[in-house]
Amino acid sequence: SLELRNLTLAYGPIEVLRNVSLNIAPGTTTCIIGPSGSGKSTLLRGINRLHEPKSGDVLLAGRSVLKDKPDALRLRIGMVFQHFNLFPDHSALENVALAPWKVKGRSKAEAMIIASQRLAEVGLAQRANHRPRDLSGGQQQRVAIARALAMEPEVMLFDEATSALDPELVKGVLTLMADLCQRGMTMVVVTHEMGFARRVADQVVFMDEGEIVEAGTPEQMFERPQSARLQRFLSEVL
Ligand code: ATP
Ligand code: MG
Repeated sequence: SLELRNLTLAYGPIEVLRNVSLNIAPGTTTCIIGPSGSGKSTLLRGINRLHEPKSGDVLLAGRSVLKDKPDALRLRIGMVFQHFNLFPDHSALENVALAPWKVKGRSKAEAMIIASQRLAEVGLAQRANHRPRDLSGGQQQRVAIARALAMEPEVMLFDEATSALDPELVKGVLTLMADLCQRGMTMVVVTHEMGFARRVADQVVFMDEGEIVEAGTPEQMFERPQSARLQRFLSEVL
């Protein structure tokens, strides 16, 4: 499980995340929604310590992640961004194999086997030898997801993984994410895709101005929003 306890993050003197507490049960998907600048990306950056918290704690499997080295934590938490940052001079297969080989210390042969399995799972077995530039944006994002999965993370974080994609490519990536959820991956998904949040999430969290304003099941959040701020947000995006 993943637990945030009174997490506060600041850039200089400005607190952009204030006292955020959240429980994420193993095998569940939590979707984070909210307006631009509300702190969604900062929340993910606090979970995997790309940004050190000012106060509060993050517990992974009951243990504070602040005790571990940030690098060790990144083996346990996979992250997928809007821009996939693949290595341009490596094939899809090599992109997925590099971290298990270089970071996790598998043999190169083992890493290649893991990588081809992960690529097959994201539907790209036929594209293993393509360079990123010879893949569509949606295929590149699936390679990025396969790359994160190859590290066998306990939790996957997604930050607007489909926002940079052409509309016709969004569906394939969302379907893959829904499959991962189905297979019991623990996921925290920042998304503007309200349909995905409604269909796939176990828990939806609405953030505004650095705080969690409201959280609940998709039914509660989309059918019976309580706060005026969530009601207004939904009326603008739906
Ligand atoms: P979006 O939907 O546009 O991605 P977001 O909810 O992810 O927005 P964050 O990126 O978490 O929002 O930003 C939260 C606040 O922190 C914003 O006010 C932003 O301007 C500020 N912020 C983000 N990164 C930095 C930084 N490196 N230095 C200073 N302020 C920052
Ligand atoms: Mg963001």
